[in-house]
Amino acid sequence: MVTTHPFEDDKLHEECAIFGILGSDEAAALTALGLHALQHRGQEAAGIVSFDGTQFPAHREVGLVGDIFGRQSVIERLSGNSAIGHTRYSTTGEPMMRNVQPLFADLEFGGLAIAHNGNLTNALTMRRELVHRGCIFQSTTDTEIIIHLMATRRGAVVERLISSLRQIEGAYSIVALAKDTLIGVRDPLGVRPLVLGQFGESYILASESCAFDIIGAEYIRDIEPGEMIVIDDQGPHSHFPFPPMPSRFCVFEYIYFSRPDSMVEGTSVYEARKRIGMELAKESPIDADVIVPIPDSGVPAAIGFSQAAGVPFEYGIIRNHYVGRTFIEPSDEIRHLGVKLKHSANRAYINGKRVVLVDDSIVRGTTSRKIVEMVRHAGASEVHMRISSPPTTNSCFYGVDTPEREALLAARNSVEEMRQLIGADSLRFISIDGLYRAMGQPERNKDAPHYCDACFTGEYPVPLTDVDGEQDPRQLSLLAEIG
Ligand code: SF4
Repeated sequence: MVTTHPFEDDKLHEECAIFGILGSDEAAALTALGLHALQHRGQEAAGIVSFDGTQFPAHREVGLVGDIFGRQSVIERLSGNSAIGHTRYSTTGEPMMRNVQPLFADLEFGGLAIAHNGNLTNALTMRRELVHRGCIFQSTTDTEIIIHLMATRRGAVVERLISSLRQIEGAYSIVALAKDTLIGVRDPLGVRPLVLGQFGESYILASESCAFDIIGAEYIRDIEPGEMIVIDDQGPHSHFPFPPMPSRFCVFEYIYFSRPDSMVEGTSVYEARKRIGMELAKESPIDADVIVPIPDSGVPAAIGFSQAAGVPFEYGIIRNHYVGRTFIEPSDEIRHLGVKLKHSANRAYINGKRVVLVDDSIVRGTTSRKIVEMVRHAGASEVHMRISSPPTTNSCFYGVDTPEREALLAARNSVEEMRQLIGADSLRFISIDGLYRAMGQPERNKDAPHYCDACFTGEYPVPLTDVDGEQDPRQLSLLAEIG
């Protein structure tokens, strides 16, 4: 049965990636390559808008970046020396096409293309106000709210954007293109990532630095929380339109979302994951014969665990990389089938062994249960599970695709109950303080945590204006659609 919500595995998913470049004759081709490197952040649809000196050619399509922009004819039409692009992880089907970004609008000052990663947490409230004032929305994305706000302001593009952003709340990163000006913005708390790079004379903005490596560009720095960077023929210059606030970067970017070869806040994501694995081994030691990662995302933490524990690391589970995406109803039965298709046990390294499985998270728990069962069938004498994040007990409202709270295994069960449900001999998660220690902090500062960790603690750093304020079921269903 075809559904509107595909799933790949039992994980949280980033919902978008953004990329922008100014000052290259190959702007669209470089944007396509950058989006290709960011494909892990969104696989449903992609789009690029360029500026050719007069027009803003655009191409948006449902599918993977390589399939959409691998065609020379598409790239040739996206002429010009500046471009922005977007990949999206969200719903499929006809209603989605109008939500494929970047969005474009002709405003009083000229054309504006804009794309964002994240979520505006007062989107519904703002949208209602704008509709009341006569705005006609073409899509259900948060991004369009920013366009309508800018349309009602006065002044040049930067002033209009600043004034509009002061009206909104949320966790977001934005790229925008207005003629010869490329703009990037991070929300005041810097929950979602955005980095600056350079490629010859060109400047680039991207969700992650792995988008620079694919084209040989240089990573310069992270855009600061609350910073608006404006890049034109004078080079980059910064504005700080919001009152300064302590940073609350999404800690899950380190645990799972970002590619391990990306640099975040000057730190290698791979290195961070290894350190988390080491801390986990210190917190929850276990006598074992072999450390086995759940591929691919559990690999760096398992290496760290193995090094700290002094127990050999082996690929005891092999992932089949050629399993297609499963566009089927996510019933429990089918999820189990998906896991069987995707992973198989490397019996020679498991049979008769005390195995420690290392994974980055447990969301619904369906994958964990199946993998534990598979490893037992392959002859393991003991199967222990170690998780390099604290229990995921709360949904994310900041641009990450999370099941409702009730569907999160850790929201309904104690760690011991979870152990029984997945069938492991032992189950341990890294503690929240252990996670902060691995990230170089002495512990989690309860009064001013360094990261957003709301999916583990329930302490949401950006107000959930829409979620908290809505009682009307019609508005809640619109909120779900917008989200
Ligand atoms: S709630 Fe979790 S996934 Fe969402 S931004 Fe915060 S740390 Fe990241």
